[in-house]
Amino acid sequence: MLTVKLPEELDRHLAPFREKGRDTGFVPTMGALHEGHLSLIRCSLQQDPVTVVSIFVNPTQFNDPEDLKKYPRRTKEDLALLEQVLRADDVVFLPEEKTIYPEPDTRIFDFGLLDKVLEGEFRPGHFNGVAQVVSRLFELVKPVRAYFGLKDFQQLAVIRRMTEILSLPVTLIPCPIIREPDGLAMSSRNLRLGKEEREQAPRIYRTLQAATTLKNNMSVQELEQWVKEKIEEAPRLKVEYFRVVRADTFRPVKDWNEPGPKQGLVAVWAGEVRLIDNVSFEL
Ligand code: AMP
Repeated sequence: MLTVKLPEELDRHLAPFREKGRDTGFVPTMGALHEGHLSLIRCSLQQDPVTVVSIFVNPTQFNDPEDLKKYPRRTKEDLALLEQVLRADDVVFLPEEKTIYPEPDTRIFDFGLLDKVLEGEFRPGHFNGVAQVVSRLFELVKPVRAYFGLKDFQQLAVIRRMTEILSLPVTLIPCPIIREPDGLAMSSRNLRLGKEEREQAPRIYRTLQAATTLKNNMSVQELEQWVKEKIEEAPRLKVEYFRVVRADTFRPVKDWNEPGPKQGLVAVWAGEVRLIDNVSFEL
């Protein structure tokens, strides 16, 4: 694998692939890599002649400066891990902030409802920052395919919309959520969980799973309340939101009989660490 910092190096390396029409696959990350990231990378390795993995902790998507400061940074360990999975021609792109943002990015995207509800409501500006960084990374990497985890379900919808708004010629590939054996969705933030929080956190997914089997017995509103109460039976867990929405439009679901795919999305504070997860109600 090749590690590069500058777009010129990236272009130089990828040019021969592009000339031969050999597609670039791209996996953008913020590092502190785990099996969730690796699953995206493996998916690209299976399909793409060359894979680019970026590691960049994007300041514009953090609405809370403390969260940005505390976000885990483990580039040395990440590179050792990538060395084991990437092929000789694959690339790790480690851009500096001045490369991504040579000047402040003032673009404001109009995502309608998509970035106003759920994560958008509780993390104002977050998805605009995600769209800024991903569009900039797409501009530099020029991937044919890009891989995103369904763990960040709303993020994928926002990025899909961003590619439509900017007419970007990239295919987005959604990848399933990878979990710890006890069901907790893998996340770089799990590294920051204390012992008690880590022990209680699997309750989040257990409750989501139980919720999918209860939808015939309760109204949507009752189920939303039930999920909140059930998760909060664990003393270190506090639910910020749990809502069932249309998986495509993110409009709130009021009645189970409404047509269309439905998704339940949750954000939970485990002590000082904010975790998200989601589940499909199409079972
Ligand atoms: P991040 O480094 O948290 O920005 O995540 C980079 C990419 O990895 C995003 O597309 C995430 O959705 C994806 N990802 C993170 N955690 C998981 C997971 N547990 N399962 C699948 N994909 C994940």
